[in-house]
Amino acid sequence: MALFPKFIYKVKTTDKVIALTFDDGPNPDFTEKILDIFKEKGIKATFFTTGRSIEKNKNIVQRMISEGHELGNHSYSHINLIFKKKKVILDEIVRTDKLIREFGVKGDIHFRPPYGRILLTAASVLATLNKKVIMWNVPTKDYKENDPEIILKRIYKRVKPGSIIVLHDSGLDRPGKIIDRNATIIAVKQIINKLPKKGYKFKTISELIKY
Ligand SMILES: [Zn+2]
Repeated sequence: MALFPKFIYKVKTTDKVIALTFDDGPNPDFTEKILDIFKEKGIKATFFTTGRSIEKNKNIVQRMISEGHELGNHSYSHINLIFKKKKVILDEIVRTDKLIREFGVKGDIHFRPPYGRILLTAASVLATLNKKVIMWNVPTKDYKENDPEIILKRIYKRVKPGSIIVLHDSGLDRPGKIIDRNATIIAVKQIINKLPKKGYKFKTISELIKY
């Protein structure tokens, strides 16, 4: 048994494939607007959802799944897992996995830690659960940004084959966050038009990590 889970920040490939990932949702005000944009273009993304948001927004989760998006685990209550006891961490992860499975999801459910942070205890819990930890190599800091142009600049500057882009479809889970996610939505509309013109294809995390 590995003591440390596998951390993935990007995938090593020369193919122009990338993954769009969204943390902290589903959110009743913003997530469906993003789903509408993807539906029109047939694009699939990965949503790292929190258990408590799943419980409040089951219809949105159902829609994500029926439209071919991937669900990831972003803990139950979005607590910082650093210095938490093993039992608390395990409960946060297992509880959210169970909620996701209720929607008939089979196969691996990948994990993204709240705030991108874990230490040894969480690492060993994740290794025991055989989870891959999905990080990112294109940070957008969209959770504190209301100017879509700045979000776009950060994406265009860093994106390359195998990139994992992190965005947020909710503004509720982080202190100091901008609650309104319309800047993210405007940025998403732009990138799904512009990046394919540069040859990029959007993949879910499970698809991307096979490259
Ligand atoms: Zn988060």
